[in-house]
This record gives sequence, structure tokens and C-alpha cells, in this order.
Amino acid sequence: MVQPIEFRLIELIRERCAIEREDVQLGIGDDASLLAVPPGQLLAVSTDTLVSGVHFPENTSAFDVGWKSLAVNLSDLASMGATPAWATLALTLPRADAAWVAAFADGFAALAREFKLALVGGDTTRGPLSITVTVHGFVPPGSALLRRGARVGDGIFVTGTPGDAAAGLHCLGQGMQLVAAADRLVERLNRPTPRVAQGLLLRGRASACIDVSDGLAADLDHICAASGVGAQIEIESLPASSALLDAFEASMRARFQLRGGDDYELCFTTSDEGASPLLEDLARSGCGATRIGRIVAGSGVCVRDARGNEIAPDRGGWEHFA
Ligand code: ADP
Ligand code: MG
Repeated sequence: MVQPIEFRLIELIRERCAIEREDVQLGIGDDASLLAVPPGQLLAVSTDTLVSGVHFPENTSAFDVGWKSLAVNLSDLASMGATPAWATLALTLPRADAAWVAAFADGFAALAREFKLALVGGDTTRGPLSITVTVHGFVPPGSALLRRGARVGDGIFVTGTPGDAAAGLHCLGQGMQLVAAADRLVERLNRPTPRVAQGLLLRGRASACIDVSDGLAADLDHICAASGVGAQIEIESLPASSALLDAFEASMRARFQLRGGDDYELCFTTSDEGASPLLEDLARSGCGATRIGRIVAGSGVCVRDARGNEIAPDRGGWEHFA
């Protein structure tokens, strides 16, 4: 049986996340929500779970947990080129802590408002802290960005500056919070920016796309496997934030840039013609992209260092940079 306190928590979340959308015919409060997909659009659906101590450090603020639990889900819609519309939220809490839930909902709502996303339902249960969000978005038929379209000769690109989030996690582990650059890196870990606008710009222009959640090389490898091609990354071309440059020397940077997870940048491929207007559009959108390599025949991701030596990740080769 649902306890009255849980209804208070749901009410708290509902109030804070209230966003009007005409396509929500019935939102939170009944046994199911009733939603209208715009005629002629496909519904894109994605789910991600965040478990405390696994997907975020246990002492992460409630606001940041709320923000991140929506951000990682919006990132999946972004990488498909979908426009976000709705979300559901399954919240498992160790205790009915109204202050924690209020701050969590504020973090979730801050990002939801930015994308006019409506929270349309969920579930609230007791147990170890864990958050499951399901997001729903729209995409015109035939225009979703898939992992499987990369072709030999395409350039490989990444938005933003990968490696920052993993570097932030490293800083927390090493007690480096007092280093000025570390704060900026930890901010990237706790408040990732879903590249929704950039995903929309890539529609019809990128041949393949994925969001970087497990690390640039690992996620690019998924594009390679799905597309039946290989990838060559030039280590010198990897973009680095000023914070990463300030806090770490080259070998550590390379490690974070190639293997670090949690950045939620977009990695995409596109042929050379059309690449420069696309890069200009991305730069104007507030988050530019950088060319980091090219698609080649074969399989797997290969990294080339400054001396032109190729180091394959499956031989543990990136330890080379440590
Ligand atoms: P039921 O018992 O029918 O599953 P609940 O008591 O679990 O209903 O939930 C009541 C209403 O509150 C439902 O509309 C449900 O979708 C919504 N809800 C429950 N938990 C959450 C949550 N964490 N976030 C958003 N909506 C929620
Ligand atoms: Mg329920």
C-alpha cells in the first residue's frame, strides 16, 4: 500500500516539474498518462538507470542527481536526432526525505524546462537510492541518426571536450577539489549538457552518431561494429578543455579523453563535402565539434600518436599513455 508520505513526495515532484504541453492530454495523477504523438512523427524512447555509488558518487548533491538523471537520458535522444517531449521517473529512495526530493526535483526541472519536457508519470518506492528515467521524443521517419551508417573515408568528429567528466571523477578521488581547474571538471561530471540542439543539426548530415557515455573509444567502437568499418583517431587532434590542460599532463589527458566516460558529448561521422558548413552551424549552436580522425576499412578503433605509431586498445595499448 502506498503511504501518504509518498503521495506528498509525488506532489512535491509534480509541482516542481509542472510544464504545460498541449500533447499531454492527461499527466501525473491517474493510472497512466495519455499522450498524443504528432501525426507523421516517430516516437523515440530511451531508458537509463542511475544507481548511487555506481553512476554518481554517493555524496553528489540531490540537485545534481536530478539534473544528471535527466541529462543522460536526453543525451540518448540527442544522439538519435530526436526532439524531447516527455519523461517518466521511477525513484527508489532509502527514506522519505522531503528536502532531498525537493532539491532532486529542482535539478530535474531545471533541465526539463530548458527543453520544454513534461514529466508525465512515474513510480516512487523504498530501497537503495536509484533513479530510472524514460524519455520520449519525436523524429520524422527516415531522419533518425543511427550507429550503422559510417562509411570508409568519412571524418570522425566529437562535440565539446571529452575527458572532462572522468578527469573530474579522478579529482574527487584524489581529493583535488582545491585545485581551481578541478571544480570545472567536477562540474562537467555532475552537470553534463545533453547536446540536443546539436543532434538536431546533425539530422540528414551525419552518417552515424552515438553519445559518449562509456568513453570516446568504446562508443566509437559501437559505430564501427554497427557500420562494419574501422576508425583511426589522431591523438594530437583530440580537443582538450582549458581545465583539463591546466590540471593534467599529456598522457593523463589522453587517457581521460579516450577512455573516460560520462561526458555525454556526441561522436559522429560525416563525409568531407558538407563537413565545414555543418561545423559552422554547430559552432553557432553554442557547442562546436572537432575532427578527430577518419573511418577506414577493417574493424575496431585504432589510435595514432604524435610519432605516427598505431596503438590498438584491445591490446591494453592505452596504458602506454599512463
Ligand atoms: P499506481 O499505484 O496507480 O501505480 P502511484 O500511487 O504509484 O499510482 O502514482 C500515482 C500517480 O503519481 C501516477 O500518475 C504516477 O504516474 C505518478 N507518480 C508516482 N511516482 C512518481 C514520480 N516519482 N515522478 C512522477 N510521477 C510519479
Ligand atoms: Mg505505481
